[in-house]
Amino acid sequence: MATTAMRTPIESGVPDNKPYLHPLMLRNYGNWKYHDRPRPGVLHHVAHSGDEIWTVRAGTQRQMDVYTIRKLCDIADTYADGHVRFTIRSNIEYMVSDPNRVAPLIEALNSNGFPVGGTGNSVSSIAHTQGWLHCDIPGTDASGAVKALMDDLYEEFIKEDMPNRVHLSTSCCEINCGGQADIAIIVQHTKPPKINHALVANACERPAVVARCPVAAIRPAMVNGKPSLEIDEKKCMCCGACYPPCPPMQINDPEHTKLAIWVGGKNSNARGKPTFMKMVASGLPNNPPRWPEVSAMVKKILYTYKNDARSWERVSDWIERIGWPGFFEKCDLPFTKYLIDDWRGSRASLNASTHIRF
Ligand code: SF4
Ligand code: SF4
Repeated sequence: MATTAMRTPIESGVPDNKPYLHPLMLRNYGNWKYHDRPRPGVLHHVAHSGDEIWTVRAGTQRQMDVYTIRKLCDIADTYADGHVRFTIRSNIEYMVSDPNRVAPLIEALNSNGFPVGGTGNSVSSIAHTQGWLHCDIPGTDASGAVKALMDDLYEEFIKEDMPNRVHLSTSCCEINCGGQADIAIIVQHTKPPKINHALVANACERPAVVARCPVAAIRPAMVNGKPSLEIDEKKCMCCGACYPPCPPMQINDPEHTKLAIWVGGKNSNARGKPTFMKMVASGLPNNPPRWPEVSAMVKKILYTYKNDARSWERVSDWIERIGWPGFFEKCDLPFTKYLIDDWRGSRASLNASTHIRF
């Protein structure tokens, strides 16, 4: 009988972080006593051994060119012995083990245009999805909207004046790979894709496109004697998922691609379960380069929350306490039957599909 050799896994997985840690962090790994924040943007960790380390957090413009990254690395080499890391929201953090090095580091960051903040009850940098750089579906420039909005929210980044931390995100299609956030900006297509029938046969694998549609709205069809596709527009929920495997099904449109605002999402933590955000405003113009209408709407919701929430309430806790009618009233937003829909609420529309029943 033939013996089968065990196949060695070739996946490298997550790399070991130990070689990259600050030596003091490595020495005290898993052995920390407490931490505090001496000022916004600075974390101070004390180990059981008595060692102390200060972490200075600065905001970046999120998508950076190589010159900016070199500048940030030069600051690290000069002021922090080359020790840096990025947070998931693209803040950069520098670690120093001498308290006297904190002030010169902050001064160097500020004078180079990188605000220090984003800790505690602040509005941290906005997470945005990969957009044009890596993805083939974007309906807007997520990083541009983030830059425009964070310019407006600069003061909220460098201070810790919010009732609790506020996480914002921007997603450039309705797949929303940006995940859950206290306040999220998400693209909203309002018309089904327009099909360029002349190109479908050459550019698209039709079964792949048909299978991609979550509500089974796409069928193969012959158009002008050539194989193409057709859409049942009554079923189509304008998600845009068919566009990546078939670019001739164009859905991005300067007029009909809009932006919507969702609120109340968060990941779970030691104190609470995750919550899922819900749509509270829709049909905002996708208006580059500064997206003023979106910025105004986010600020309206953010400052209503800031003025009305109790200490330590996240946006979702605040809404749970005041109720959805209270939220729309206090934010002075119109309510329609299309808002605060969620996965459970979309059961009827998804049941339009023959291959998804639940
Ligand atoms: S939100 Fe959509 S378009 Fe943007 S990167 Fe994620 S999947 Fe791509
Ligand atoms: S936009 Fe979405 S729902 Fe509409 S046809 Fe394409 S995949 Fe289906």
